[in-house]
Amino acid sequence: MSTIFSKIIAGELPCFKVYEDEHVLAFLDINPIQPGHTLVVPKIASKNALDADPEDLARLITVGQRLAKAIMEAVGCDGVNFLINNGEAAGQVVFHTHLHIIPRFNDDGVYEEPMPGEYESGEAESLAATIAESLT
Ligand code: 5GP
Repeated sequence: MSTIFSKIIAGELPCFKVYEDEHVLAFLDINPIQPGHTLVVPKIASKNALDADPEDLARLITVGQRLAKAIMEAVGCDGVNFLINNGEAAGQVVFHTHLHIIPRFNDDGVYEEPMPGEYESGEAESLAATIAESLT
């Protein structure tokens, strides 16, 4: 499936590129959560992290680590979020795997903290076992 990111990779649409190699391209998000918000995408299309080539996923993190340091220096932020949305329910809008690198400043209020939950007695043990059994 062709997405907007495939077109950017193919050079059919413009972007503000910050990094490129044989396997990945990184460019500024068009609607940044903070200036410097960068997307890192594998050149080979996959829908999201669940069906991406594991080596491509590893590359997103490896390149992301380098970029995060450069972004922190460039914008003077205090931290960064690495974020991958997988599936519509998780907020994915563009169905081409991508890593967001989002600059963060102390007390910037960008994300509201979610309310942490608690497990009922025995629930965590049972759920951990179910997940472990589902591993392929
Ligand atoms: P998602 O919600 O799928 O994880 O994030 C998709 C991201 O792609 C959004 O943050 C959105 O601003 C960004 N985006 C969508 N269209 C374009 C585009 O044409 N160019 C760039 N640079 N970013 C885009």
